[in-house]
Amino acid sequence: MDKTTLFDSDLHRTALSQLDTVARRLQLDPNIHERLRYPRRALVVSIPVLMDNGRTEVFIGYRVHHSTALGPTKGGLRYDVSVDLGEVSALAMLMSWKCALMGLPYGGAKGGVRCSPREMSGREREHLTRRYTAEIILMIGPDLDIPAPDLGTDEQTMAWMMDTYSMTQGKSVPGVVTGKPLIVGGSAGRREATGRGIVYVLYQAAKSLGQELPGKKVVVQGFGNVGGVAARMLWRDGCVVTGVSDFKGGIWNGAGLDIRQLQAHVDASGSVVGFPGAESLSNAELLEQPCDILIPAAVASQLNGDNAARIKARIVAEGANGPTTPEADQILRDRGVTVIPDILCNAGGVVVSYFEWVQGLQYYFWKESEITARLQELMARAFTRVWNAARKHGVDLRTAALMEGVRRVADAHKARGLYP
Ligand code: NAD
Repeated sequence: MDKTTLFDSDLHRTALSQLDTVARRLQLDPNIHERLRYPRRALVVSIPVLMDNGRTEVFIGYRVHHSTALGPTKGGLRYDVSVDLGEVSALAMLMSWKCALMGLPYGGAKGGVRCSPREMSGREREHLTRRYTAEIILMIGPDLDIPAPDLGTDEQTMAWMMDTYSMTQGKSVPGVVTGKPLIVGGSAGRREATGRGIVYVLYQAAKSLGQELPGKKVVVQGFGNVGGVAARMLWRDGCVVTGVSDFKGGIWNGAGLDIRQLQAHVDASGSVVGFPGAESLSNAELLEQPCDILIPAAVASQLNGDNAARIKARIVAEGANGPTTPEADQILRDRGVTVIPDILCNAGGVVVSYFEWVQGLQYYFWKESEITARLQELMARAFTRVWNAARKHGVDLRTAALMEGVRRVADAHKARGLYP
């Protein structure tokens, strides 16, 4: 049996094929390449939760550490119906490359629970989170593995995780998670970090292409933590946000949407759908609308072999993890579309998570202006490194970013050697 079968999923096949391609380009030591193809450890847990209807439902959860060569592991926790071991393992691998690319002292991890968070009450989500945390408790800790929010989870989820972990230690342990509320040791600017990082990277991309960002037409899929913040900041900076969507569907106005009013509509109704003055359209239609910049900021595999030829955007900024399949990547590349890859484009979240972790360990908190200045510097530097490497090696930005991330992890493995 192929050992990777255990972790099989669309996203894992994509992640493996990216690693294999980059390993060939880097002429990676085959022994190290082989080690990087598997997670270091993976835990599968069942999570019984007493539901509001009096029945006990069992959910399946996962926590995967991909590589620990560079330090403790870091990665989000996802609540979604599509979560499985393959998806979580692939996302853990991507986190290894992302942390290494950004120069952070972390390996990659990811966690997830297969559930429909929007159909659960707050009490049910809290019980799910606390029991999941208890089940994976041996896998997490401030110097072991530090979860953060991802799809379907938020600051409140992190507060419950931190509280549950702290209760088992008999003391408060803020460093066990990042993306916490400010009152319990969160960092200024963490909530906005991923969306803000996307905007910084887009400024660099526009500059490198000899263009101006303000005035560009932008479409954003997903109006959550990542997509909502990116849309608001781009709108505030003079871009014309013509379309956005969420799980219920999309909205479109060729003259531009007022994102502040849209946010108020979402806060009141729970969705972008029904926003006055906008046409409605499906998520699939939204992706194909004319625009300069497309930001997929929801789920994986949205740009694929079926729709890549009809994508009109000239720049795709990957807010989500794995939104473009390898087939779509090839089509977009052939059509001259600039794809800013996930491990670079959405790295603002893990960068400010790192800042939060450092602040927590030192019990010394920075001003938001210091955080945004440091974030901007790291994002701009990483973009320039990747842009120059792509030029030097004659490859696209994804390959260049992966080459740098994979090389650093491989170098760490080489320096440490093989135990025992
Ligand atoms: P979120 O739960 O806050 O928001 C997700 C948004 O996508 C919501 O508007 C939701 O309605 C929409 N959505 C969900 N399923 C959809 C579907 N099938 N079609 C269209 N829209 C859908 O999540 P988030 O934290 O904004 O994460 C979004 C993506 O960004 C994920 O891929 C995540 O892995 C990635 N990401 C998040 C962070 C972070 O800091 N939160 C960091 C890096 C990457």
